[in-house]
Amino acid sequence: MDFNLNEEQKLLVEAIRTMGQKENFKELAVQIDAKAEFPHHLMKKFADMDLLGMTLSPEYGGGGAPALNAIIAIEELAKFSPMIAAPVFESNVGAVRVIDLFGTDEQKQAIIPGVCKGELSVAVCMTEPEAGSDLTALKTNVVEDGDDLILNGQKIFVTGGGEASHYLVYTRFGDIKGYKGIGGIIVESGTPGFSCGKQEEFMGLRGMPSCDLIFENVRVPKKNVVLGPGEFSKLMLTFDIERCGNAAMCLGVAAGALEEAKSYALKRHAFGRPICEFQAIQFMIVDMAMKLEAARLLVYRAATNAGQGLPSIYEASLAKCYANEMVVEVASAAMQVFGGYGYSKDFPVERMLRDAKAWGVAGGTVQMLRITLASLLFGRRFDQRPGK
Ligand SMILES: Cc1cc2nc3c(=O)[nH]c(=O)nc-3n(C[C@H](O)[C@H](O)[C@H](O)COP(=O)(O)OP(=O)(O)OC[C@H]3O[C@@H](n4cnc5c(N)ncnc54)[C@H](O)[C@@H]3O)c2cc1C
Repeated sequence: MDFNLNEEQKLLVEAIRTMGQKENFKELAVQIDAKAEFPHHLMKKFADMDLLGMTLSPEYGGGGAPALNAIIAIEELAKFSPMIAAPVFESNVGAVRVIDLFGTDEQKQAIIPGVCKGELSVAVCMTEPEAGSDLTALKTNVVEDGDDLILNGQKIFVTGGGEASHYLVYTRFGDIKGYKGIGGIIVESGTPGFSCGKQEEFMGLRGMPSCDLIFENVRVPKKNVVLGPGEFSKLMLTFDIERCGNAAMCLGVAAGALEEAKSYALKRHAFGRPICEFQAIQFMIVDMAMKLEAARLLVYRAATNAGQGLPSIYEASLAKCYANEMVVEVASAAMQVFGGYGYSKDFPVERMLRDAKAWGVAGGTVQMLRITLASLLFGRRFDQRPGK
């Protein structure tokens, strides 16, 4: 087992750190949160640095890099803010990976080069008002009409909603029941009958576009089907790479909070000494570091074993579940180290704690991940529906 980053990965980290200092990402993170505005100007910069689509297929303009490179980049950027890391997340571990892995040549040609240039983006549309954890209960539906499909339904909490150029919509095909009826189709922004609802206001991740999507008799050509009915498991397998990206966001936020807490503990005085000299503070900092490092090992293992493909469900679920809870504990401890100032918007740890809370719900709740993990550990499926 080699726990070291290779030369290319070290250079990647270095380049991101240099950019973060040069562009003052620390201050940018404050501004994004205060104004709740997505940093669109970063798209071009990130594209120029080959950070967008670095894991996508080289034939279509991607970098062909292993998943770990994207995970490291997401973590480094999320140390400043998950909003700054978001374009790297979406273009490397987001829904575009489904298209890269399973799409037709035409779909890839139409979307991937634009994603790598920062001109296009793909949002994932799974959740519905009555189908979140219980995804296979989704009601969004397509019926055939000649060469087209007619799409009807509603999605909620779609990250990138209203801003993305393309939407990978999880939909039921006809009246095929359960997971066997679910596939994924591409809907382009601006297609008649497709509209967006109100923008969400979340407690954290301010600046992240997120809204409902409404589909009313939307005509979608059949050539936009990425995965048809019977291929739901492929959609979910690809989602495991997104789970690693979600966990990398947690690593970044927690590492950022730990750094803030350490430097504050060195500067802040109480009882005539810097507070880092109190064992209570030292132990909090050590526990934060311990949890962060443990999470990092789980996330890097899942990403390393994925290589250029997909991670194992077990490793990705374990990593996400642990990292999701770790980041809340670490950010909360950081706030404690700051005392009263930690609760003030004048310091970054209250934002970090707000941002930390999102990840254990987005991409599958920690409860649902534990159900998946229990299934894998016991080697049998535990159906959650009554009477089964
Ligand atoms: C920041 C953020 C970004 C998101 N981005 C997207 C996106 O881009 N695209 C998208 O489609 N969705 C997105 N979502 C939605 C997200 O995937 C869902 O919120 C999530 O899957 C949970 O679904 P729900 O909200 O309907 O909760 P519910 O499924 O209603 O769950 C409510 C509670 O019950 C628990 N629960 C439910 N069933 C069980 C069970 N069988 N056993 C034990 N506990 C259970 C859950 O763990 C949870 O605590 C996002 C959400 C957030 C917060």
